[in-house]
Amino acid sequence: MTDRETTAAERRAEELRRALNDANYWYYVRDQPRIPDAEYDVMMRELKEIERAHPELARPDSPTLRVGAEPADQFEKVRHLAPMLSLDNAFDPEELRGWQRRNARIAAEVEDAGYVAELKIDGAAVALLYEDGVLVRGATRGNGLIGEGVTANLRTIGAIPLRLRDEGEVPIPPRMEVRGEVYMTLSGFERLNERRAAEGLPTFANPRNATAGSLRQLDPRVTAGRPLHFYGFQIQLDPELDTTLPVRNQADVLELLAAWGIPVNPHRRLCDSLEEVLAYAEQAEQDRARLDYEIDGVVVKVAPVALWEELGVVGEREPRWAIAYKFAPDLATTRLLHIRVNVGRTGAINPYAVLEPVEIGGAMVKLATLHNFEDIARKDLRENDMVLVKRAGDVIPQVVAPLTEERTDQERYEPPTECPACRTPLEHPPDEVMVYCPNTSCPGRIYWGIVHFVSRGAMDIRGLGERTVQQLLDRGQVRDFADLYDLEESDLLGLEGFAEISARKLVQSIDEARARPFSRLLFALGIRHVGANAAKLIARAFGGVDGLLAASRDDIAAIHGIGDTTADALAAFLAEPRNITLLDRLRAAGVNVVEPVERAERQPFAGLTFVVTGTLPSLSRKDAKTFIERLGGRVTGSVSGSTDYVVLGEEPGSKAERARELGVPTLSEDELRRLAEERDATASDIEAEAREDSTA
Ligand SMILES: [Zn+2]
Repeated sequence: MTDRETTAAERRAEELRRALNDANYWYYVRDQPRIPDAEYDVMMRELKEIERAHPELARPDSPTLRVGAEPADQFEKVRHLAPMLSLDNAFDPEELRGWQRRNARIAAEVEDAGYVAELKIDGAAVALLYEDGVLVRGATRGNGLIGEGVTANLRTIGAIPLRLRDEGEVPIPPRMEVRGEVYMTLSGFERLNERRAAEGLPTFANPRNATAGSLRQLDPRVTAGRPLHFYGFQIQLDPELDTTLPVRNQADVLELLAAWGIPVNPHRRLCDSLEEVLAYAEQAEQDRARLDYEIDGVVVKVAPVALWEELGVVGEREPRWAIAYKFAPDLATTRLLHIRVNVGRTGAINPYAVLEPVEIGGAMVKLATLHNFEDIARKDLRENDMVLVKRAGDVIPQVVAPLTEERTDQERYEPPTECPACRTPLEHPPDEVMVYCPNTSCPGRIYWGIVHFVSRGAMDIRGLGERTVQQLLDRGQVRDFADLYDLEESDLLGLEGFAEISARKLVQSIDEARARPFSRLLFALGIRHVGANAAKLIARAFGGVDGLLAASRDDIAAIHGIGDTTADALAAFLAEPRNITLLDRLRAAGVNVVEPVERAERQPFAGLTFVVTGTLPSLSRKDAKTFIERLGGRVTGSVSGSTDYVVLGEEPGSKAERARELGVPTLSEDELRRLAEERDATASDIEAEAREDSTA
């Protein structure tokens, strides 16, 4: 490797890192994607290859680290630059006023200094260490002094910049911690739990647990698959260095963080008085149900930073200048009117409670989950009981316990023995807590079936939420999956929340979803034990619906990675004429039933890098790029030591010269096609040989 080649690779790697980090900022922090996903993927692939070929060029701010590093054996202990303080709590306005009075005795200015109120997100606090603007370490709070180094995990979170943006007026300090909260959105949390349930894994109790658990994964690739986000709210400078920042108050801190590319929560208020803080907190408590993340209060900080030092810290742990104003407890008592059940998409019978409506944490609660019949029996919940209900922390309200002292003549609850939707006797597998309706064509399953069918990991039909599904079912416009594809704009216009544009968009996204790979459809059908992964293996093995329909139960079980349970369940599904009709109708509706051939299997240009320059006889520049990429090659913009071929057209310009300088071979358009054929022929020969070997 010559020095010049290394320099070229180094320059290109730096260029790619910048472009990818920038794309990330616009996507996660500004929510305004600037480049298409495909372009991002291509750049990411190029950077990965450069780093593989030149390991010395790997950098801590490289976006390639976002996909997750190798698993660790354990987490290192990390000492924070200064203790991560914990906040004292105030539970009512009087306690908050008491806090202000105590502070005013230390610094009288507090009374008129104003406050900054921020939402208190229920996640996990972390400290991100940036050196010269590059994220070099990230740690959990731990005991406040020492936390666990979870750098590789934190790097997988798209919202956390690997390198700060150095465009603002305030230079980035050479060494500092950005502190903030890692959290999981409620929608992401629900999808995660849905996916886990579908894969037979235990679900998380609430987003906070899921966040903490995700951060403490020894395998960062697991963390990379979790929907985690981040908001920063504090800067801790290195006390060893003599740096200062021009910030007067907490609002300045947040603005500074935002200027550096750190996401900050837009919900906050600079308040003149404590009364204004209380009004803001009351509003926040009412609005919390509309947020896509859990909050359990409002953090109130004395606004001027100058007063923070004066007020100081209690017992080295709790700052006097900040306090958590907690929302009202999330428990309430009410009457459990009825115990009802619904049927899940796998046939699982889910009991739930119909409650006398009660306000908890700012929201009206009418329904609560009862988990399963064993749980009801253990708690001895009875219809008409007064019960303790909890909401917050948990996404779905739950019935905690009956108030048995208020019980009069309520009778013990008897769980149903037959399906409420189709009257089929229920089954209770001996090693499970759930009971099931075994009828695969049970109409009760269809609601959750459709919700699953359109979900992100399945057919990914955007804009078709649960409420819409329910309405479509209620109006009889949809009775099964295939009906979705008959929906027209006019069918949607009468639905709640739909206007012309949203209706058109939904029809469009249903149409786009027709093209999903067959594996997605197979998963979307919601066949028991056929998770996303199994669906992929099966679709690849049979190539599409025709191959699958021709397969026997044993053919399915013979697929590497597919167990007997899955093979049995899938074979049972395919044995039902009703399901075959459904598949036929989906196919007739234009839904793709073919699994695209894995690119790696037929990629004569795999591993090759091309540059296209000048005007080609028949292909436009864009077509040439597509042609090369479809055959597994990569097209870059500039000729470097890692370029394999330069495709030359008329008037090629400086790139042709550069190719000559570096000794990179050049091709005409014709030669490019010939190269593809030659390499493809070689690839087929190798494949044929391999097949013969395996059958011999
Ligand atoms: Zn049923």
